[in-house]
Amino acid sequence: MRKEEALRGIPQISRIVEKFRGRFSEELVKAVAREVAERFRREIKEGKRETAEGIYEEVERKLLERSRTSLRRVINATGVVINTNLGRAPLSEEVARFILEIATGYSNLEFELSRGERGSRNVHVEGYLKELTGAESALVVNNNAGAVFLVLNTLAKGKEVVVSRGELVEIGGSFRIPDIMRASGANLVEVGTTNRTRISDYEGAVNENTALLMKVHRSNFYMKGFVESVSLEDLVDLGRRKGIPVYYDAGSGLITDLHRIGLKAEEHSFGESIRKGVDLVSGSGDKLLGGPQAGIIIGKKDLIDRMRKNPLMRVLRVDKMTLAGLEMTLRVYLEGRFEDIPVIRMITEREEVLRRKARRLRRRLKGVKGLEVKILREISKPGGGSLPELDLPTYCVSLKHRSMSAEKLATRLREGDPPVIVRISKEAVLLDMRTVGEDEIKPLSQAILKALV
Ligand SMILES: *Cc1c(COP(=O)(O)O)cnc(C)c1O
Repeated sequence: MRKEEALRGIPQISRIVEKFRGRFSEELVKAVAREVAERFRREIKEGKRETAEGIYEEVERKLLERSRTSLRRVINATGVVINTNLGRAPLSEEVARFILEIATGYSNLEFELSRGERGSRNVHVEGYLKELTGAESALVVNNNAGAVFLVLNTLAKGKEVVVSRGELVEIGGSFRIPDIMRASGANLVEVGTTNRTRISDYEGAVNENTALLMKVHRSNFYMKGFVESVSLEDLVDLGRRKGIPVYYDAGSGLITDLHRIGLKAEEHSFGESIRKGVDLVSGSGDKLLGGPQAGIIIGKKDLIDRMRKNPLMRVLRVDKMTLAGLEMTLRVYLEGRFEDIPVIRMITEREEVLRRKARRLRRRLKGVKGLEVKILREISKPGGGSLPELDLPTYCVSLKHRSMSAEKLATRLREGDPPVIVRISKEAVLLDMRTVGEDEIKPLSQAILKALV
């Protein structure tokens, strides 16, 4: 008897459709309503559910879930500025607006307006890169892995490339220098040991089959203690003496010198490497450069011209949206507005700004029952794939709940809307203000309140 009454409480599909009219498509509501009603009916029959109460809420939850895109904006409260899993460099609105302008219409992507002829898509950024780095020539491909591959394949296929054992790195799982080397057709010649490599090691490995001397930035780790590696200058000097080009995979694609923006880290900018005489340098567009995903190669014109002719250029070519994002990003650098590059701004953010954000967030969480909210002076590791040795003082909001573990709260935040990614330390959830924008404080506080109910 009670069951029948409960079954009668399940509304008709048309009533559910009526309730959500205008908010979701009728087709979607119908499908979801049927599915939920069916499940409620079964559960009532099996005695797993007492009444049909909450059916509208359940339909709404499913509708929201189904109408979400797969790719979603998240709040990064980890303090890791360049996080490959979270999409690396966020772009400024200025850059995004230019991408929108180019993406939503036709453009002169490969068309020379002055002559009315077919042109090259590379010209849109080459000039900027030359001016910003002092290099003779520049080329852009899909990402830095592609850049490394193109350099090795063009200049060293079937020949030897000398690399220090201390630099045979793996970057983010699928990119390993020895593997990419093999795939490109170049033969790796390892020299030195894990912790020490001297110029005499390179010199001993050079023969008539040597095509390149390569140096790789360690990017995601650093070594301390009994270590020795060869400087770019010494490698350039050896390359000159032997008539072999020197290639530096700089990894992060730094455009400005770090000390100019007040950072002490061992990271050569593109320009520095070129000034030291390196023949070719490559780096990513979306690490410290702070632009869209891209691989940038700069250096000697004759070497880069050989790469332009490689059929792989077509395989690795960049899209108009990438070029638009890169052009506008490089323009911002050319105008010296470093602080308008979100990545640079976050890495150099002043402590008082970080503390102010932490205070704003704490104020919004005042009086929540069972929640202990503290502001902690902590250390951010802004790198995650670059600047491995850099520790920056930061401010975090620490959350501890009386009846919810830090792991549970972190999971609920991650599964919320918008999802929030945090770190956990000493059984507290830490929200690092370095990577949280001013305009994200309010949605962040709302997400926390939702996660706690
Ligand atoms: C990140 C990195 C790469 C790979 O660059 P992507 O742009 O991610 O393809 C290659 N080499 C080094 C040294 C790196 O740091």
